[in-house]
Parts: sequence; structure tokens; C-alpha cells
Amino acid sequence: MSSPPSLHFRPSVYLRPRDIGETVVLLGRYGRRARILAGGTDVLVQRDPSVEALIDLEAVGLAYVVSDAQSTRVGAATTQAEIAVSERLATPALRAVQEAASLMATPQIRNVATVGGNLCTASPAADLATPLLALDAEIRVEGSSGGSQLPLRRFFVSPGQTVLRPDQLFVEVIVPVAGARSGCAFLRLARTATDIALVNVAVALEFDQTDIVTKARIALGAVAPIPMRADSAEAALLGVRITRDSAVAAGEIAAGEASPISNQRSTAEHRRSVVAVLVRRALLRAAERAEDRRDEFGPFTGDGRL
Ligand SMILES: Cc1cc2nc3c(=O)[nH]c(=O)nc-3n(C[C@H](O)[C@H](O)[C@H](O)COP(=O)(O)OP(=O)(O)OC[C@H]3O[C@@H](n4cnc5c(N)ncnc54)[C@H](O)[C@@H]3O)c2cc1C
Repeated sequence: MSSPPSLHFRPSVYLRPRDIGETVVLLGRYGRRARILAGGTDVLVQRDPSVEALIDLEAVGLAYVVSDAQSTRVGAATTQAEIAVSERLATPALRAVQEAASLMATPQIRNVATVGGNLCTASPAADLATPLLALDAEIRVEGSSGGSQLPLRRFFVSPGQTVLRPDQLFVEVIVPVAGARSGCAFLRLARTATDIALVNVAVALEFDQTDIVTKARIALGAVAPIPMRADSAEAALLGVRITRDSAVAAGEIAAGEASPISNQRSTAEHRRSVVAVLVRRALLRAAERAEDRRDEFGPFTGDGRL
């Protein structure tokens, strides 16, 4: 059972830095006594009584989606609503990120909740974690001892815990450009449209000219202590075509790789069977997208809920 919100959440200092440098200085000064405030949709629910200073990111300028020949970069303070309508993410190779941002939470939450907050909270069910893991995203951080970049896969440590030190700011997510024939998809199952996911799944595929899979990525959420990749299912898809049979087989392998728990939302067995179904469906959808580049133009408007 989760603990009730603290009645003693009374930070005495509110800080509003104007750039990354100022933010890092403040993080260094306050250390564990400070908390970054992005959208606040987790901070203000968790109400950690040890927090003395809130560092508001709004004026730092980290809300953007930009791309060049190598990558697409999403600033840490970009909201889910902004991601959901970004033309730069409305491509077969990136659409899974947009689907996750469109499907999670409620419109009110999506208007303020950010990608940085979603990843730094490190919930096993964080909806943006799975598409970004499937797309081999890296994250850029800045801290007192300088900047660094690391694969998102190495970011999560345990539920609620990342590798970020108290003096480090998560600056942006970097998604490398995918091959010419690529497609991705995100699907989630939740008890209600606004509840967190029982299971979420994202896949990203690349194909050669003969429709053979040259790269497969499958990420699973809410079925392990941290968002995870299904390495064996990915390996099973290399060198084959995506057919119903290969998608079913990969879904079953992925279900075997998951280590879900039973809780008030679902049993472990149910979660495992949902993994098999969602992976199968997501693979078929991603393969269709790699074929059909028509949806390259325009933000995601469909309903990917199940
Ligand atoms: C009603 C409701 C429904 C929700 N539904 C969903 C859902 O369906 N799916 C889902 O995944 N989540 C859901 N959430 C959780 C939450 O909305 C998301 O995790 C959200 O993306 C958090 O972003 P934020 O900007 O509000 O983070 P904040 O609350 O501002 O911050 C969260 C944590 O990240 C840290 N942080 C934020 N930005 C940075 C940064 N740039 N560098 C370093 N640390 C940083 C903060 O200090 C804090 O510890 C829901 C929450 C609510 C209240």
C-alpha cells in the first residue's frame, strides 16, 4: 500500500533560475534538500517532507523538440501535450513517443506534465519510458562537474530511483535517427482511460529492402521493477519477416522475460498474458507503419488504447 501524502510538505524556498548554469549552481547549493519542479504532477503528490527548496524549471528554456540529420532532441521540460502535437515526432519512426504522450493521464495533467518529470520519477509504469527505450534514446545531463550523455537504458536503477545525482539536471532526451525503412508503435492497457498502465509496450523495427528485420527493439513497462527491454524477443526477430506467427512468437518470448507482480491493479499472470498480446499487436502495427509512410504528415490523432 502506498503511504499517504505528507502533511509536512512546506518548502520554504522557491527558486526560478533562468538557464541551465544557474539551475546547476542551485542544485549544487541545496543538494538533497532541493527538488526540481517541472509540471509538479508527481512532486505535489509525493509531498516529500525533507524538501526545503523548489527549483522551478519554467524559465530555463527546456521546452522544445528539434531535429537535425543525426537525431531528434526533446527538452526535459517539454510537456506531454506539446509532444502529442509536435510535427517532428509525427513520423513512422517516432510516432510511439507521441502515442504515449497522447494516451497517458488526462488532458489537464498532459498540459503540465513533462518528459523529464516522467523519466526522473522512475515509475516502472512511466508511459514515456517504453517508447524512448525502444528508440535507443540517450539522455543529456548537466551537473557541477560538467555534462554527460548516457543511454536511457542505464538511467533507471529501481522504482523511484535513477542514476541522477542531486546536483544533476536532466537536460534533454536524444533519439537517434532511424533507418529509412522503420516503424514503431506504443500500446497500453489500463483499468480506466486515466489510470496508470497495467502494462505498456513499445516496439521499434527497422527493415531492409526485402522486408527482413535488421533491428528490433521491444520495451515493456509495469512488468518489472524498472522499464525494461525484452532482449530475447528482440533477438528472435532479427533476420525474419514480421508475420502474425513471428509476432505471436516474439510476444510469448517477451512475456517470459517479464517479471510482473500482482497488486491492486492486476495479477502477475494477467500482466504476463497482456504483454504477449500487446507485443504482438505493436509489432504488426510498427511493421505496417514502416510500409506506409502516409502517416508521416500530421500528429497522432488515433486511439491506441486497448
Ligand atoms: C492524475 C494523475 C494521472 C497520472 N497518469 C499517468 C499516466 O497515465 N502515465 C504516467 O506515466 N504517469 C502518470 N502520472 C504521473 C505524472 O503525471 C508523470 O510522471 C509526469 O510526466 C511527471 O512530470 P512532471 O513534469 O509533472 O514532474 P514533476 O512532478 O515536476 O517532477 C517529477 C520528479 O522528477 C524530477 N525532475 C523533473 N524534471 C527534472 C529534470 N529536468 N531534471 C532532474 N529532475 C527532474 C522532480 O524533481 C521530481 O522528483 C499521473 C499523475 C497524476 C497526478
